[in-house]
Amino acid sequence: MASKKIVIIPGDGIGKEVTSISKLVLEKIAVKYNHNFSFEERLIGHTAIEAVGSPLPDETLEACRTADAILLGAVGDPRYDNNPSLKVRPEQGLLKIRKELGLFANIRPIKLFDQLIHASSLKEEVLRGSDILFFRELTSGIYFGTPRERSDNGNTAIDTMIYKKHEVRRIAKKAFEAAMMRSKKLCSVDKANVLESSRLWREIVQEMTADYPEVEVTHMFVDNASMQLIRDPKQFDVILTGNLFGDILTDEASQIAGSMGMLPSASVGDSVGLYEPIHGSAPDIAGKGIANPMASVLSLALMMELAFGLQEEGKAVVSAVEQFLAAGYRTVDIAQADTAKDKITSTEKTGEILISYL
Ligand code: NAD
Repeated sequence: MASKKIVIIPGDGIGKEVTSISKLVLEKIAVKYNHNFSFEERLIGHTAIEAVGSPLPDETLEACRTADAILLGAVGDPRYDNNPSLKVRPEQGLLKIRKELGLFANIRPIKLFDQLIHASSLKEEVLRGSDILFFRELTSGIYFGTPRERSDNGNTAIDTMIYKKHEVRRIAKKAFEAAMMRSKKLCSVDKANVLESSRLWREIVQEMTADYPEVEVTHMFVDNASMQLIRDPKQFDVILTGNLFGDILTDEASQIAGSMGMLPSASVGDSVGLYEPIHGSAPDIAGKGIANPMASVLSLALMMELAFGLQEEGKAVVSAVEQFLAAGYRTVDIAQADTAKDKITSTEKTGEILISYL
């Protein structure tokens, strides 16, 4: 029996809808496997700005520091997206929580469930057998570098891409270790033909190959990688990349899995880990009860395995999703064009069915 404190941060938009399902799934796991999970709910993003004026209140950070794991929904609101001049912004909360908790490695498995092979816009023969594990650097690069400002009376904008050797080394180490457990293939994605920070990145990865002689390492420029990902995704196993490139490539890779609504992630560092879907707050569907909660629920599988070492519980979560799909149930985002064949489920109904399979 495990006793764990889980901090739940629903955030904005569909973040609230999908984490409420994941909480029910956690409660079911606790009962079924006789664990003691306690929950604390905290604020982030637009919801936090509205309530207390800050996108990441101190109480949220404090609760996270003493947690065994964190479950996050999503952060973001169109009111800010459409008004770039606002100084206090929801996504500042997300960047700060990652930085403060030292969550430098964002792990994003891209796995296609067989039943969803037709949900992708890519051809079946291109997709079948794809299984990629992304390691995206999360607390440095252009999302954090300074200066980051407007100058010249607002006519010039500056962002700064910085990478330090130790930052590259620690994320690369995680990717190499994962490659050793998988097919021993690692592709490092950068833009070393143009960017100095990418040349440093490549130099460090090349240096580290000496420590992992069994791993076959390739280097690819990000523009080529974005093309290769949809041309032939099966050529990849572990992909290691920086913050900006990883953000973009993993959204692209979501099409291999059929939908953003199917992709979980784990953000880890040296202490507590944060588990969240890769998607955002999806304002276009928020409040309609149709968000796919499976990315959030699958993040729980990562939480069980990586944070708690509960392999069986993790497998049970994945199996519940497989059974849901095999029974023909679909949320709107993964329904086939011929929806008559599918049993379309709301967010809530999806949760109920997943829990029944658990
Ligand atoms: P998004 O991921 O929110 O949505 C992109 C598209 O995918 C939308 O059409 C949406 O309806 C669909 N989608 C996403 N998740 C889904 C789900 N679970 N079920 C069904 N459909 C789903 O990206 P966006 O529209 O570019 O951004 C919206 C807001 O989210 C912005 O404010 C952005 O800054 C924020 N955002 C936050 C995160 C995060 O919290 N980690 C990540 C990306 C974007």
